[in-house]
Amino acid sequence: MIPSVRVRFAPAPTGLLHIGNARTALFNYLYAKKENGTLILRIEDTDAERSTDSSIEAILRDLRWLGISWEEGPDGSGQDGPYRQSQRLSLYRDHSEKLLREGKVYKCFCSPERLESLRKEQLSMGMMPKYDGKCRSLSEGERSKMESEGLRPVLRFRVGKGMVVFEDLIHGRMSFDSNGISDFIIVRSDGMAAYNFACVIDDHAMRITHVIRGDDHLSNTPRQILLYLALGWEHPVFAHHPLILGSDRSPLSKRHGATAVSQYREEGFLPEALLNYLALLGWTSPSGEEILPLERIIGDFSLSTLSRNAPIHSRKKLEWLNSHYIRKMGQDRLAGRLLPYVERAGIPVDQQNQEYLNRIFVLLKENIFLLSQVEEYLGVFFDPKFSFEEEAKNLLSSPGNRGILETVLRVVEDWADMEGDPGSTLLFRLEEKTGLKRKPLYALLRAGMTGKMKGPELAKILSLLGKERMLKRLKMALELS
Ligand code: GLU
Repeated sequence: MIPSVRVRFAPAPTGLLHIGNARTALFNYLYAKKENGTLILRIEDTDAERSTDSSIEAILRDLRWLGISWEEGPDGSGQDGPYRQSQRLSLYRDHSEKLLREGKVYKCFCSPERLESLRKEQLSMGMMPKYDGKCRSLSEGERSKMESEGLRPVLRFRVGKGMVVFEDLIHGRMSFDSNGISDFIIVRSDGMAAYNFACVIDDHAMRITHVIRGDDHLSNTPRQILLYLALGWEHPVFAHHPLILGSDRSPLSKRHGATAVSQYREEGFLPEALLNYLALLGWTSPSGEEILPLERIIGDFSLSTLSRNAPIHSRKKLEWLNSHYIRKMGQDRLAGRLLPYVERAGIPVDQQNQEYLNRIFVLLKENIFLLSQVEEYLGVFFDPKFSFEEEAKNLLSSPGNRGILETVLRVVEDWADMEGDPGSTLLFRLEEKTGLKRKPLYALLRAGMTGKMKGPELAKILSLLGKERMLKRLKMALELS
């Protein structure tokens, strides 16, 4: 019987969830969903100095926000736990002791200074740095002498000769000559299991069938396969996806702008847009469509269709997707997402404002590509936030415009607020009374009534503003000249 698919996402909690890692989590999630499998969240916190509880919380929060859910993880569920490596140390110890007894690993007492000078020497001779095996065949006496001197050894894996070959689901057949693999450390001198070792023990114990992770781990995989062989276990299937690059084709980093999922959330990206975007980085749907809600992606996804070429991050594309998802959002959900920005800007969200705000949101949703952009427009609709942009001031105070503004003021003063869409009829009347062409008139009106040169449809804005606000602003505009 083919075992059911079990995949894992295994972040190190040393910072915020990066969009690159979120994409790895997403591919694991998609594969699990597609195959009716199980996604396990494992926290790789063996680096006690750099791992923090707050980072674990942030990773869980950001995954949940994105809509990536797991069946087993540190938040309680699952039978193969604990799901934090720092709580699994005795398991690593049992296996490393067994490998030591069998002679498959050995104690190495070489000092960091010796290893560093060895590395330099090898590099100066044009050689690839590699541990020279000094402690490979220490006698029992030599070992106990060093231990009695208080030296604390690391455990190194005894790498044999031969080729390590495996089929990668994305890259195809991969082969590595073990000659190029140093006797690597599996347990550090403080007794803590090193990444490759803990990862193999856990992937086996958690019955992982497919390891889906970034290309940056490709060089770890032959080491891990050697460990599986030494432990007498079958290794899982591997799939290494290329990492996201910045526009200059270097690995995506802070220099390229926001990298953390939480930064994107705070800027006002929607989780569905970010998910859609990340799925499309390096994967194309069979239909070639770009706007794909999660259910569609799950239906169409397969690991073998992931590209072998590294995808390039495009913020423009992400913004485009976000504007699409904002436009498609239901009114209540959109209001729920936008209100926090309004509140943060100090506008009271009360009964009185609710209706006005809802009408504003309907208008703005066509114009914004980030939820946070709602803040830029609050000044258009709420007097305490109103001000004239520099360009608007220049236009309003330029010669000849004062007379037009005075005409506009008179028309608005005589204007009786109407139901429905009064903005359009007002604009029509203003065209008549000023005799101006539509383009210059609208630019002047927009500058005078909204303080801006650009924005949503003018007629709709005027309908929303109402007479009192319009008059107040026109008077302010007249004071500029
Ligand atoms: N903790 C490793 C990382 O964050 C996990 C690598 C793996 O998936 O094996 O890169």
